[in-house]
Formats: sequence, structure tokens, C-alpha cells
Amino acid sequence: MRPAWLEVNLDSLAHNVALLRSKAPASQLVGIVKANAYGHGAVWVGRELLRLGAWGLAVATVSEGRELRLGGVQGRVLLMGSLHPDQAREALETDLIASLSTLEGAQALDAAARALGKIAEVHLEFDTGMGRVGFPWEEAQQVKEALEQFSHLKVTGLYSHFADAEENLEFTYMQLANFRRVREVWGPGYFCHLANSAGVFNFRDDSFDAIRPGIALYGLLPNLGLKPIARLLAKPTLVKQLPPGRKIGYSGLYTTQDHEWIATLPVGYADGMPRLVYNRATVRLLQPSPEEGRLICPVVGRISMDQITVRIPGPVDLDTVFEVVTADFDPGSSLWGWAEMTGTVSYEPAVRLAARLPRVYLRGGVEVARIEP
Ligand SMILES: *Cc1c(COP(=O)(O)O)cnc(C)c1O
Repeated sequence: MRPAWLEVNLDSLAHNVALLRSKAPASQLVGIVKANAYGHGAVWVGRELLRLGAWGLAVATVSEGRELRLGGVQGRVLLMGSLHPDQAREALETDLIASLSTLEGAQALDAAARALGKIAEVHLEFDTGMGRVGFPWEEAQQVKEALEQFSHLKVTGLYSHFADAEENLEFTYMQLANFRRVREVWGPGYFCHLANSAGVFNFRDDSFDAIRPGIALYGLLPNLGLKPIARLLAKPTLVKQLPPGRKIGYSGLYTTQDHEWIATLPVGYADGMPRLVYNRATVRLLQPSPEEGRLICPVVGRISMDQITVRIPGPVDLDTVFEVVTADFDPGSSLWGWAEMTGTVSYEPAVRLAARLPRVYLRGGVEVARIEP
């Protein structure tokens, strides 16, 4: 296996699921596994979520849905976003529950279902304030009437999406009220879902059938009791000592001050490490024995496409393991820290964790799966 890999801890995933459930005990959970489960590997994360009792999974693209199906996932998979008419047939063939926010999408799906001799199960998205996709919430009644003409569509769910559940209480309460109105117009019998991760933690609104968390599953929101579920680990490919005054890496952005030990690790920006974190990020050296603890080592010089260089206190062998991403909120070595350093949110470094990284899944400390690209 390549000496750089992502280790995903399924126990931490279970912890995060349990925490989310405790915030919304009466609701089911739709596990958001779009963008390769925020970089963590959709098939194995998806399977585990279903094993943990999730109602179903949700993806952003038809091909993400297809990947789940090819990976043996049989549960419900919701295709979010607004179905483009071009993808009606593929969505049906992949057995996805499509989301509709346009009559064009409805028409195309109805026709595709008719042609395939199927009834297409759909969820309708309503725009209650996000302004992105969804039928206008004010038109719930007209939408209901318009959809009755499609004999091959079966509306089973209604949903909406929060725009600012992190920050704006008042706006979010307005969205909640708008969505309740949609539900009143449609009446009972529809699976209704609204809250994203921030919504679950900040609003504890338990009055709908399901919550739809993404980022919280992966533990990437600080100070809420969540556990990041992944570590990026690497073994050095070269360890050397350099004299003072040597430049390291592209553009020579680091110069040794002393006789310094430098390890080269085989991960770079093509694996998802932001190029901007050079000379600021750190990695942790895992010591052979736990008592010796962990040593924080600075990344020195530019992040290359496939490699980084780190300063270490002394020589180590090539079987030494470094944590390039730690499963915590360390400002120098976590996905959250990378996001802070680059002015973004932890979603972004997470989804950039490259497909070319092998992924190893642990449950109860035991490896249960290893996916090598
Ligand atoms: C991505 C997404 C979510 C999950 O959002 P998080 O902030 O990651 O919890 C939920 N619903 C929809 C429609 C989404 O697109």
C-alpha cells in the first residue's frame, strides 16, 4: 500500500451519529454522503450509516449515487439538488429518489418512468429562504395541483434547506415557519426533512421526520462534542540531515538554521493538503511507545504536488508514522486547522482529500476494509 493513507474511524462516526440522534431523538437520519462522503469514502461511510440505522443516504450527483450502487449499497439514496431533465432516466435507472424543484424536471422524470414502466418516487424541495433550488414555498398549493397531472410520479417527501442556521436565528425561524406552511398545505403522509448539521445543533427542531446532517457526521465542527473521524497518515520516504544554510523545496522558502533533520513525506497538494499552509502547518510524529507521546514537527518549505518536507528532532526510520491530519481541532494539523489557515470552512479541505489516497476503515480498533485506488 502507498505509504500515505486516510484512516477512517467508524467508532467516531458512530459517536457522531449518536450525538446527532440525542439532539433530535424523534427524527430519522438521512446521512449526507455527497462529495465522496466529504472526502471520507462514500461506499464505506454509507454502508456504516445504514448499518447504524440511517433512514437512507443522500448524494449530490447521479454518478455519486451510481458509485454507491456499484459498491453494493441497497438502501434509499436521495439525489439532492434540482433534477436536470437530462438526468431523469439515469436517476431512475440508478434507483435514486430524485429531488424536484421544477416542472421541467417533473415532466422529464414522469416521461422516463413511463418509458421504463416504473413509478418514480420523488421528494420535492421547497425554497424557504436559501434562494438556490426548490419550488417557492408560497406556491405549495399550485405545485401540489400541478404535480397531480403526472401519473408516473409518487411524491413521498418534502424538504427544504437552511441558509444560515450557523448564525442567523431569526432568519432560520422564518425558514422553519415557511416550511411548516408547506407541510400544512400538503397535509400528512409525506416524509419531511429540513435540518442540516448546524440546524440540528442550533435549533433542536424535532418536529420533522428526519434530520439531514453532513459535516457533523464527519466530526468537523468544533466545541460540540463531535469527533473528527479521519486521520491522514504517512511514512517518510527519505530522512536526512542538512547543514545550516540549505534551502528546501520550490522557491527555497525555508532555509535551515542549524544542522537539521528533515523527513520527506509522500503527500502533497494533489492529496488535498492546501498549498497555502507551507511553513505554517505541522505534522505529528507518532512515537514507538505511547509514553513518549507525540512530537509536533513543522512543515518546512513549499507543499509540492506529491510531497512535503518536515523538520524532525532526530533520525527516524522509514517505518515511522506521521499524522499529517490529526483527528482533532489542532490549528496546525487538522482539517479544521487547514481551513482556518486558508480562510475557508472545514468542508473544503475535507472534500479535497484526494481519491488517490488509500482509505482504511477501522471499527473497534480492527481494520474492516481497505480501499486502494
Ligand atoms: C450538503 C447538504 C446538507 C448537509 O449540510 P451540512 O452543513 O454538511 O450538515 C443537507 N442538505 C442539503 C440539501 C445539502 O446540500
